[in-house]
Amino acid sequence: MQAHGDRYLWVNPPAIPLTTEELDAVFELPYQRIPHPAYSGSKIPAYDMIKFSVNIMRGCFGGCSFCSITEHEGRWIQSRSEDSVIREIEQIRDKAPGFTGTISDLGGPTANMYHLNCKSEEIHAHCRRLSCVFPTICKNLLTDHSSNDLPDRRARQLPGIKRILIASGLRYDLAVQDPEYVKELVTHHVGGYLKIAPEHSEDAPLSKMMKPGMSTYHRLRSCLKSSRGRRVRNST
Ligand code: SF4
Repeated sequence: MQAHGDRYLWVNPPAIPLTTEELDAVFELPYQRIPHPAYSGSKIPAYDMIKFSVNIMRGCFGGCSFCSITEHEGRWIQSRSEDSVIREIEQIRDKAPGFTGTISDLGGPTANMYHLNCKSEEIHAHCRRLSCVFPTICKNLLTDHSSNDLPDRRARQLPGIKRILIASGLRYDLAVQDPEYVKELVTHHVGGYLKIAPEHSEDAPLSKMMKPGMSTYHRLRSCLKSSRGRRVRNST
């Protein structure tokens, strides 16, 4: 609880993290994938943005001080199984009105935390750090991005699927740990611009935001140049 003026703000703790099987079950309920009839055919910009996108995970261990995702989804990354992700893409392909073959996003709160977590549940349970990646990437964090590539690779082989884009924001201090992942990303999954969020260009405000300094941004640029030379647009 936090006092604010003559009132108190009550922040509920995040829900207990779901296992992969539980998360799959939630995501595979028989959703209609169309707006509620109460909207009676009106244009809904938010629906247009997400109707061909697939959420593959929940949670974030970034702990940025201005962001609420870690507070309401938790710091433990909960990932769907590859099979479940593939089944949802097939559902979109076969049932979503207007689908032309492009999945607009395969992502979540962050583009590249799928199956990344602390190396030990026991260490995680006792850890009091606010972020696994600030001020430096914790030595206990698994940063191998090979799991991130798997659903993307499988999905782009599916009949009737032309492109799989990744439009969620990239946590680039993590991504540069795995140049092969960056190469795979920019070669196959960037629809024109890669979304990143440096948030600022100066170290003092960045440190208050619990974001990496600009040297990490420059490392990403070098990594991109050696991958394919895609243009980078700041998403903030
Ligand atoms: S020990 Fe490191 S990787 Fe594990 S939860 Fe804490 S900060 Fe994150």
